[in-house]
Amino acid sequence: MKTPDATGPAAAVAQVAVPVPFADTLSYRCLPGTLPCPGARVAVRVNNRPLVGVVTAVYKNAAECGRAVSPQRLKSLEAVLDVQPFLPPESLAFLHKVARYYLAPLGEVVATAIPGWFRRLPAKPPPVERWWTVTRPLTRAEQESLAKRAPRQWVIWQAVNEAGVILGKELAATHPQAANVCRQLEKKGLLKAQDSCVLENQQPQQPDFDLTCGQQTALEKIQQQEAFAVNLLDGITGSGKTEVYIRVIQQQLSRGKKVLVLVPEIGLTPQLFGEIARRIKGRVAVLHSGLSDGARAREWNHARYGQVDVLVSTRSGIFAPMENLGLIIVDEEHDSSFKQQDGLRYNARDLAVLRGKMENVPVILGSATPSLESLHNAQQGKYHWLKLRQRTNKSPLPRVRVLNMQNKNVTGGLAQDVLDQIHQEFTAGNQVLVFLNRRGWAPAILCHGCGWVADCRHCDVKLTYHKGIHRLRCHHCQRHYPLPEFCPQCGSQAIQPLGEGTERLGDTLQAVVGVDNVVRVDRDTVRTAAQWKKTLSRIRTGAPCVMVGTQMLSKGHDFPNLTLVVVVNVDANFYSLDFRAPEKLAQLLVQVAGRAGRKDRPGEVVIQTHSPQQPLFAQLFGQGYETFAAAELEQRRAAGFPPASSMAIVRARSRDAEHLDDFLQAVAAAVPADPAVAVMGPVPAPVFRKGDQYHMQLLFNSQQRPALRRLLRQLLSLAEVKRPPSGIHWSLDIDPQDLA
Ligand code: ADP
Ligand code: ZN
Ligand code: ZN
Repeated sequence: MKTPDATGPAAAVAQVAVPVPFADTLSYRCLPGTLPCPGARVAVRVNNRPLVGVVTAVYKNAAECGRAVSPQRLKSLEAVLDVQPFLPPESLAFLHKVARYYLAPLGEVVATAIPGWFRRLPAKPPPVERWWTVTRPLTRAEQESLAKRAPRQWVIWQAVNEAGVILGKELAATHPQAANVCRQLEKKGLLKAQDSCVLENQQPQQPDFDLTCGQQTALEKIQQQEAFAVNLLDGITGSGKTEVYIRVIQQQLSRGKKVLVLVPEIGLTPQLFGEIARRIKGRVAVLHSGLSDGARAREWNHARYGQVDVLVSTRSGIFAPMENLGLIIVDEEHDSSFKQQDGLRYNARDLAVLRGKMENVPVILGSATPSLESLHNAQQGKYHWLKLRQRTNKSPLPRVRVLNMQNKNVTGGLAQDVLDQIHQEFTAGNQVLVFLNRRGWAPAILCHGCGWVADCRHCDVKLTYHKGIHRLRCHHCQRHYPLPEFCPQCGSQAIQPLGEGTERLGDTLQAVVGVDNVVRVDRDTVRTAAQWKKTLSRIRTGAPCVMVGTQMLSKGHDFPNLTLVVVVNVDANFYSLDFRAPEKLAQLLVQVAGRAGRKDRPGEVVIQTHSPQQPLFAQLFGQGYETFAAAELEQRRAAGFPPASSMAIVRARSRDAEHLDDFLQAVAAAVPADPAVAVMGPVPAPVFRKGDQYHMQLLFNSQQRPALRRLLRQLLSLAEVKRPPSGIHWSLDIDPQDLA
């Protein structure tokens, strides 16, 4: 018998999605005897570089694949890496949709979706790691006895208990003897080791309260849904949104379905993870970028093989395959961390809706400050708008004081009466949060003699003074510079820091409440997930302290002893060119304010500003976020901006500013004009030069999404866009979140 000639026209051909900028898929000849299935990973060569791709289709021979390929000239697959599909058909279909929505090559989308571990050659299974969990809760007597007899074991037991499930390595980072102590606790039957960070609970805790009316109504509405529907769970802080999530999750699990929960930040994952894990009967896992590559790959596999009932994840989890998915929840849906800002610029919140539609399951978008995009959809009746307007503990929302800083006596960035108030709260045994979204000691260094300001030599930005390292730092390119002793322009020694960052506020506050009572939380002091956990657990002891920090402190955390929140320097937002600035500011203020006075103590929020007359304050604190948002939405509609329109930005960069401008001018001139699409630019980006590269952008805005998409497709097919002049890099951002 004659065997088919594998190299001849009869050889099977596989379409493979590989991360290349110029095509969706490439065709490869299959190896004799090994037909890969669609969804399997394969090793291929592109321009002689070994790469991992995913098979999207297999054809019996070249003629069938419908492309003008000559079978003799096709390269063959190097290896087939999976026997079973690595991506199930629903996942592949979803990624196809994502690629079409973002007008991105399929291979790039696939590469974004799959954890790095699975894209590396030679292919290896994810590593086995050792995770610890407690075997059972301890009685009070047991706790006391352990604390007395074996204090080290007690410390470790608490750390594991608090984390729910924790990597041995991570414990060792904060507790050097953890490995030994864990083994001792294992012998006593108090800890157990496992090879994944899945938390399995057999005895869910029952809550000791009844649902509020709002919760009940929202829950009933969602629980009726058997198919795709989007619910906007619009609930003020402390209204018990989490409880609604938990009950809906319980319902799904009882039907044998799986649930995907997306959260904006790593910092928030442990909290929601723990809360869900305590309350449901099933296996809960986390997936986020703080995990090692290997751990992420394992968790992904667990989800893929149905070994996880609830997956709590940051944005990349939207791509995790889950068999039998019943529900997708997006917590803090307004948060801009759901948007990926490089590579494939996807928004996981929007993709949750897309995936919900494709898998025909309900979606919940939850927030105390919903995005105008979601409110727009709710107003138009596309989303079910479920409002929770009552706090579960019935405590009033914190009192807000907008403090006019004009002519105020200021010490280190804080008004004297604010400092007094902080001192008062602290001595009364309470916690205080001072919020400022700027790291370092001072955002600028100024010569008092001539007005010279220290700039980065490689970027168009001022240098930030960091006192701890006594250096100037560029927050764009991360370069460091020494602090000059003399002004390079006039030789004067009168060089002074100008303005304040969290480091300076920390020093100011240390002078008021003592060095040990200030907890600074920013990217300079909290760099790892372990440090973050440690800081959070210190704050959660409830001991009096003053926290000072950036964004990291503004979101979702429940600090039961917090009675005063101070917000410093919000004024820059009023001068921003970004049309979303008021929305972002309002969300931030409401979120930060929501941290105050959550249990029995009333809270107060003080906002330091030089523009107390800004209407935003009166609207937001007089009438509430909903009124503010409705007014803001009207303005967006009047101005023809998103969400009333669709936007896209082409961003380009180059070391040569002139070439860059020429390039974008040529692109703008080459796309066929369409009266339905406004083209703005090219204009320099808000920071024109960053790390010696110039940045410019071309913006498109249209009331008609199809017209915008048509134009963008034409743009992407232009020869100069497909093969830009050397040294020019460009990217396309569909539905940009910020204009910078
Ligand atoms: P949100 O996420 O809406 O800000 P949370 O979900 O954090 O609010 O709820 C705040 C607190 O109220 C939590 O400690 C939660 O356990 C509790 N809680 C939730 N629902 C109720 C209820 N119906 N009655 C009393 N307490 C509740
Ligand atoms: Zn000078
Ligand atoms: Zn720089």
